Amino acid sequence: MGIQSYKKRIEKLDRDYLWHPFTQMKEWGDSGPLIITEGRGSFLKDIFGTWYIDGVSSIWVTVHGHRKKEIDDAVKAQLDRISHSTLLGLTHPLAAELAEMLVRITPQGLSRVFYSDNGSTAVEIGLKIAFQYWQHRGRKNKTKFLTLNNAYHGDTLGAVSVGGIDLFHELFAPLLFDTFRAPSPYCYRCELGKEYPSCRKHCLKEMEKIVSKHHDEIAAIIIEPLVQGAAGMLMSPPGYLRGVRRICNKYGILMIADEVATGFGRTGKMFACDHENVKPDIFCIAKGITAGYLPLAATLATEKIYRAFLGKHEDLKTFFHGHTYTGNQLSCAAAIASLKVFKKEQTIARMQRKIRVLHKELEKISELSHVGEVRQKGFMTGIELVKDRQGREPFPLKEKMGWKVCARAREKGLIIRPLGNVIVLMPPLSISIDELKSLTRITGQAITEITD
Ligand SMILES: *Cc1c(COP(=O)(O)O)cnc(C)c1O
Repeated sequence: MGIQSYKKRIEKLDRDYLWHPFTQMKEWGDSGPLIITEGRGSFLKDIFGTWYIDGVSSIWVTVHGHRKKEIDDAVKAQLDRISHSTLLGLTHPLAAELAEMLVRITPQGLSRVFYSDNGSTAVEIGLKIAFQYWQHRGRKNKTKFLTLNNAYHGDTLGAVSVGGIDLFHELFAPLLFDTFRAPSPYCYRCELGKEYPSCRKHCLKEMEKIVSKHHDEIAAIIIEPLVQGAAGMLMSPPGYLRGVRRICNKYGILMIADEVATGFGRTGKMFACDHENVKPDIFCIAKGITAGYLPLAATLATEKIYRAFLGKHEDLKTFFHGHTYTGNQLSCAAAIASLKVFKKEQTIARMQRKIRVLHKELEKISELSHVGEVRQKGFMTGIELVKDRQGREPFPLKEKMGWKVCARAREKGLIIRPLGNVIVLMPPLSISIDELKSLTRITGQAITEITD
């Protein structure tokens, strides 16, 4: 079959049978979808053999690049042993070994690992553990959660309940449980009308006001440490995260850190909590855990929380929760191999120079006439496009400015995906400096050509 007719066949099958995530299917395929058939390093190859830079790490998951030999080999070797066995009533070496590795690299105090298979379930598990913990402690009224405006914790209903992005979440309101909502630390568009740093983090005081009134009902505060990712890479000011921890301590509330996006080196340290030396009680990880190879997630808890679940069978203190593919052997093999690469290649240390290069490149982009703010933490970047720099006036949603910029970038060999008017850059940690410079050069050109 010729390449053109093969492409047509795949396109037709896609259009006839697929339903894509977060996609208006009526508009899907208008411009012919890009069909990816291969990957290598920082690049993706389409059906015609054209290579593109993977500028968002295949939605924030790729860590050491595509086709990383060590991880390929580990998964292949595992295929020759077994692909899956259950953790219900059985165990296996990889799940146990990976659990120890995760406890070692995550913030101090977290000592127990509960596996699942995606970020949303990792969050659901965190919420349920927090709730049940207080039930066992006899604090029956602690049934509520405090979350932030602009929060994103996944798409299952519990995760949506603690979400705060109206565009995704409002429609489902009748299905959701109630939460307390604190202001988002989004300084560029402060919802309290303040300016950083003269505000002295007034948003934290607003959070404390709610907590001081309702701490008897609040089981936990859930937060994306340092970066509210899906809302547009909103970065909290220094000391904010530690401030949240302080509030949790002062009022006897658990802290759930959702590091699904920020984990595994994304922010320039292994975890975002490490920047402020914050020790959460419950910790959710997914996306980068297998370096982008296979679905896996984990929720970690402290020993104190874990112990509250211990008892006799008939005490019914068991954590009644579990997913079929919990601790999948292939996924664990990929995760272990990835952590070994982190160690062997000193991924985080070697990233630091690249973070500085990215910072320098972004300075040029921040001068462009329709760039309102550039936000960067490590390899997490958001470039907020505005109609008017002075007044910070956003482009109207229907202009789809973010989309247009990304479409132009694609013509130039770069795959990126916007969040509304925010252009996201999140390359694999393994990207080379030359590739990084191409990434920012193309991004800058696309922004100029589309917005000017
Ligand atoms: C992506 C994401 C999730 C959800 O993860 P899925 O694997 O897509 O379910 C949860 N929290 C944060 C912070 C995320 O970025």
